[in-house]
Amino acid sequence: MPNLQKLQEIKTQLDNHQPPVTLVAVSKTKPIEAILEMYELGHKTFGENRVQELEEKYEKMPKDIEWHFIGHLQSNKVKYIAPFVQLIHGVDSFKLLKEIHKQAAKNNRTIDCLLQMHIAEESSKFGFDEAEIFDVLENADFEALQNVRIVGVMGMATYTSDSSQVKREFDQLRATFEALKSRFFEGQEHFKEISMGMSGDYELAIEAGSTMVRIGSLLFGGR
Ligand SMILES: *Cc1c(COP(=O)(O)O)cnc(C)c1O
Repeated sequence: MPNLQKLQEIKTQLDNHQPPVTLVAVSKTKPIEAILEMYELGHKTFGENRVQELEEKYEKMPKDIEWHFIGHLQSNKVKYIAPFVQLIHGVDSFKLLKEIHKQAAKNNRTIDCLLQMHIAEESSKFGFDEAEIFDVLENADFEALQNVRIVGVMGMATYTSDSSQVKREFDQLRATFEALKSRFFEGQEHFKEISMGMSGDYELAIEAGSTMVRIGSLLFGGR
C-alpha cells in the first residue's frame, strides 16, 4: 500500500522549496496498482532500475507517465527503453553514452542523461570520479553525440547514520556540478539537475542543493 499522505507531505515540501525540487517516486518492485494510486493523485514521475520491469510497466500504464531509469544500465539493454525513457540517471561510461545516442537517434529522439558520480565510500557503487567526467566531456567524440543531452549529475551517498559524512558527499557532488557548469555548460539552461537524495537522506540532499530526489521506501513501504 503506497503512503499517499506521505506523498502529499513530501510534494508540498518540495514544491515550496526555492528553487523547487522534483520528486521521482521510485516504484521498483512495486505493482502497477500501487503506482496507479499515486498517478491518480496527480503524480506522474516514476523511477525504475530494471529494464524488463520498466518496459512492462510502460506498456501497461498511462502514457503520460514520465519514466526515469535510475539504476545501472547495461549498454545492450538501452534499445528496450530508448523509445520512451524521459531521463537516464546513471550514465557511468562513455560506451553507455554512445549507445544511448545511437538508440535515441534510431527513435528520432534526444534522450536526457545525468552523469553518475561516485561519491560514496562503498566501492560497490557505480560512477565516475570528477576527472573522468571531464574526460567524457572533453572527448573528441562527445560533440558527435547529438541525440543525448547531458542535463546534470547524479550520485548516491554512503549508507551511514553519520550525517556529516553524507553531507560532505552531497557537497562534493554539488561542487562537481558547479565546476562542470562553468567549464562546459555556461549559459546552457538545460544543465541544471543534481539528482541526489533517497528515503533516508533526502532532507540532507535538499539542504546541499539537490534538484531531484529519488524516493522509494518512504512512499511505497519497504521492499
Ligand atoms: C532504490 C533506489 C532509490 C530509492 O531508495 P529508497 O531508499 O527506497 O528511497 C534511489 N535511487 C536509486 C539509484 C535506487 O536504486
